[in-house]
Amino acid sequence: MENKKTAGEELAEKLLTKRKNGILRADDETIAAADDFNEGYKAFLNTAKTEREAVAETVKQAEAAGFKPYEKGVKYGAGEKLYFVNRGKAVILTVIGKEPVESGIRLAAAHIDSPRLDMKQNPLYEDKEIAYFKTHYYGGIKKYQWPTVPLSLHGVIIKSDGSSVNVRIGEDEGDPVFCISDILPHLADSQYKRPVSQLIKGEELNIIVGSRPFKDDKVSNKVKLNIMAILNEKYGVVEDDFISAELEAVPAFKASDVGFDRSMVGSYGQDDRVCAYTALQAILQCSDPDKTCMTVLTDKEETGSDGNTGLNSSYLPYFINDLAAAYGAEGYSVMSRSECLSADVNAAVDPTFIEPFEVRNCSHLNYGVVATKFTGARGKSGTSDASAEFVGRIRRLFDQNGVIWQTGELGKVDGGGGGTVAQYIANLDFDVIDVGVPVLSMHAPFEITSKLDNFMAYKAFCAFFAD
Ligand code: MN
Ligand code: MN
Repeated sequence: MENKKTAGEELAEKLLTKRKNGILRADDETIAAADDFNEGYKAFLNTAKTEREAVAETVKQAEAAGFKPYEKGVKYGAGEKLYFVNRGKAVILTVIGKEPVESGIRLAAAHIDSPRLDMKQNPLYEDKEIAYFKTHYYGGIKKYQWPTVPLSLHGVIIKSDGSSVNVRIGEDEGDPVFCISDILPHLADSQYKRPVSQLIKGEELNIIVGSRPFKDDKVSNKVKLNIMAILNEKYGVVEDDFISAELEAVPAFKASDVGFDRSMVGSYGQDDRVCAYTALQAILQCSDPDKTCMTVLTDKEETGSDGNTGLNSSYLPYFINDLAAAYGAEGYSVMSRSECLSADVNAAVDPTFIEPFEVRNCSHLNYGVVATKFTGARGKSGTSDASAEFVGRIRRLFDQNGVIWQTGELGKVDGGGGGTVAQYIANLDFDVIDVGVPVLSMHAPFEITSKLDNFMAYKAFCAFFAD
C-alpha cells in the first residue's frame, strides 16, 4: 500500500506534460535506425556543399528512385514521380496522388543554400607578393569564425564564348585548400580594441590563393599572373571570366560523428541541408500517396528568399499552376487546400550560452524534431503563425506515427529572432507550420545536430506524406 500514489501524484501524471529526452523514449531499434540513417546524411553533406551540388545530387538520387523530368501539360497518373529543376539551384520533387490534385497537396519545403563566402566579380589581386580572392559573405555569419579555417572553392564560371566550367577544388584527397589569415595574438592589441562585431571586418575576409611569382622581370603583379596562368591551364579561363562566375568558398572539412557516444553529427551546412536531406529521403520513399506529395529544395533563404530561385519568387506557384492545369484545375484552389511543413532548423538550447534562450520554450538536442508555431522578431513581425487548428492536426499526426517531437521558439522575446520560408508559402494560402531540427552553433563553419532528431525529421516528413 505504501506504493499507492497520492492524489497530487495522480493528478500531476494526468494533467502535466511529460516531456523527456528522446533517447529515453526511443527503443534500441529506433536508435539503431537513426544511427544508420545518418550515414547517408553525412555522405550527402560531403557531396552537396552548395545549392548547385545539392540539386545535382538530388537529381541523381531521384532518378535512381524512378523520378522522371517533369513535362508541362502532361496529365500524369497516380503514383508517377517527377522532378523539376529551377536554374540548377532549386528543385521540386513530386509524387502524384490517387486523389485529384484539387484536393490539395502535401508540401515539404527546405533550403539548400547555406552561409558562405562568395567571390566578388573582380576577385583576384596581389598584395605584398601574396595572391588573394576578394569575397562578399552570403547570409548571416559571425565573420571572426571564418579566418584560419581550411576552405574549398565551388561553383561555375561562364566563359566569353558562353561555355561553362564547373569548379570544385579542396574537397578531394590531395587537393589544395584555401584560407583567410588572422593576426597573431602577440600583435592583436589594436584588433582587440575593436567592437566584437568588427573583430574581423567584411573587407578582411580575403582568401589566400597563392604566393609564387611568375619568373619574368618585365611584368608586375607576378604572383597574380602566375595564379591566372594556372587557372587558364586548368579551366581555360581569363581574368574577365570571373565577372560571369559564381564561386563560393565553404569549409573544406568533412562531416563527422561528434562525441564519445557518436550521438551527434558535426558538419558545415546543416542549416538547412539536414531538413533538405530528410525531406528528400521522405519523398524518394513516398509511393502511391493519397494526396499529391511534393518536396521543394530552394535557394536564397539565407539572403531573404528573394531572387528567381528563392521561395519569395513565383517558381513554386507557377509549377503548381501548370500541374493543376493539366487536370483542368485552378492552381489557386489547389494551393488553398494544401498543407506545408516549412522544413528549417531551430536553435537548440546551448548551456554554455544560456542567456538568449527562454528555457521553457526553446528546443533541446535529442528531444526530437521541432514544431515551431511562429517565428519572427519584435512582436512576431514577419511570422506566418500557424493556426491552433493546424498545429493540432500536426500534433496528432506526429503522435500517431511515433514521431518524437518538441516545440521550440527561437530565443527570448526581443532577444533577436529569425524567419523562414513559411511566410512565403502561407502567403500562397497554404496551411504552414515550421518543422525542423535543433542545431548547435547554427551558421558557424561546423554546426552540430543530434542523430535522433535528424531521423525524427525524416519520420515526420514520411508521416505527413503517407497521411
Ligand atoms: Mn535555415
Ligand atoms: Mn540559416
